[in-house]
Formats: sequence, structure tokens, C-alpha cells
Amino acid sequence: MADPKDKNRPLRLGVMGGTFDPIHNGHLVAASEVAAEYDLDEVVFVPTGQPWQKSTRDVSAAEHRYLMTVIATASNPGFTVSRVDIDREGATYTHDTLLDLRAERPEAELFFITGADALSRIASWKDIDQVWDLAHFVGVSRPGHVLPELHQENVSLLEIPALAISSTDCRGRVAQGKPVWYLVPDGVVQYIAKYGLYTES
Ligand code: ATP
Ligand code: MG
Repeated sequence: MADPKDKNRPLRLGVMGGTFDPIHNGHLVAASEVAAEYDLDEVVFVPTGQPWQKSTRDVSAAEHRYLMTVIATASNPGFTVSRVDIDREGATYTHDTLLDLRAERPEAELFFITGADALSRIASWKDIDQVWDLAHFVGVSRPGHVLPELHQENVSLLEIPALAISSTDCRGRVAQGKPVWYLVPDGVVQYIAKYGLYTES
């Protein structure tokens, strides 16, 4: 890893992939903590296309998930949103995500951020052997999930403030007429209400 004090060091780019249906404060805290700990220059949030591990439930339209992600990250100058996964045809695989981001930012060192639950499933990812070579992986703690011990040299684990929030729980709360204020950013609360998301179960 390059010396963070070296001004000529490569750009350090965090990559936060997710369905973001909806994006919530757990995602934002994870990105913020990893950015601070690893001295990242930017974190790019990448909403998935049709998620291959979630095909049993209807996922909100990609444009809704993309726009909620833009709204949630707009106030942070270090956060950006990429359309690479939603603009690519077919299912989303992390391998393609990282290749596309590398093609766009060939000078950058990539740090793929993942919660403990997703990290536990990593062995089942498509082309995992090639994926390891494309980025450093940072697994963050998540309430209810144990951070797995992965004997892989480019995986680091980070304890972050515990936010027991999931998108599944947020959708369920909206469906039941319960508030999601302070679980998701204010603009996302308003976006969900404006478009009547998650009211049909
Ligand atoms: P769903 O309930 O629909 O699966 P989710 O809350 O798990 O939604 P995802 O979009 O599936 O959100 O997750 C994107 C990434 O963010 C994953 O790596 C996941 O582990 C991580 N993540 C989600 N919520 C948290 C949280 N509260 N704390 C830490 N990491 C989280
Ligand atoms: Mg999830």
C-alpha cells in the first residue's frame, strides 16, 4: 500500500456496491468510516443492476435506487455515484463492476467495501479468483453478522459504529406505515413518499 502522506501516491478510490433499495445510514456510515481509516480520496457508490442473489423478490426500478443514492450522497464532496452496473445489460457481478471502474479510472487503487454478511458469501462470487486481484477488500462489522476470517492477504476487517438498519427492515416499516426518519437520509424519506415506494407488499 502506498504511503498516504505521499502527494504522488495513486488516487485511493472506495467502491461501495449495493442494491440500495433504499440506501440507508448504515451504508453511509460504512463508507465514511472506511474513507477515514484508509485515507480514501473518494467513495463511489455503485447501485446494482438486477441483483443475481435477490432475484426472488421484486427490486425497485434501477432509476429509483440510483436517484435515492444520488440524493443520499449529494452533500458529501467525497461521495459519488456510478451508473456502471445499472447501465450494463444483465446480472451484476462484482468482477464486471471492478473492471469497468478500473477502465474509467486506470490510475486509481480500488478499495471494495463490504458488510460482514456480504463478505461471508464472497466465496460464491463469480470469478472470485480474478476479483481478488482487482481491489483491496475491506469488510466492515454489521450487527447480527460475524466478520469472517478470510485468509486472503488483501482483505482487511474494520469495526464500525453498529447501526442495526437494513433495507429489508426499511421497506417493511414503510409497508406498515412506520417511520423511516433518521434510518435513511431526509431526502430519501421524502423520495420514498413522493413515489409511493414500498407501499405494496
Ligand atoms: P437488504 O436488506 O435488501 O439486503 P441491505 O441493508 O443488506 O439490504 P445492501 O444494499 O444489500 O443493503 O448492502 C450493500 C452493502 O452494504 C453490503 O456490503 C452490506 O453488507 C452493507 N451493509 C448494509 N447495511 C449495513 C449496516 N447496517 N452496517 C454495515 N454494513 C452494511
Ligand atoms: Mg443485503
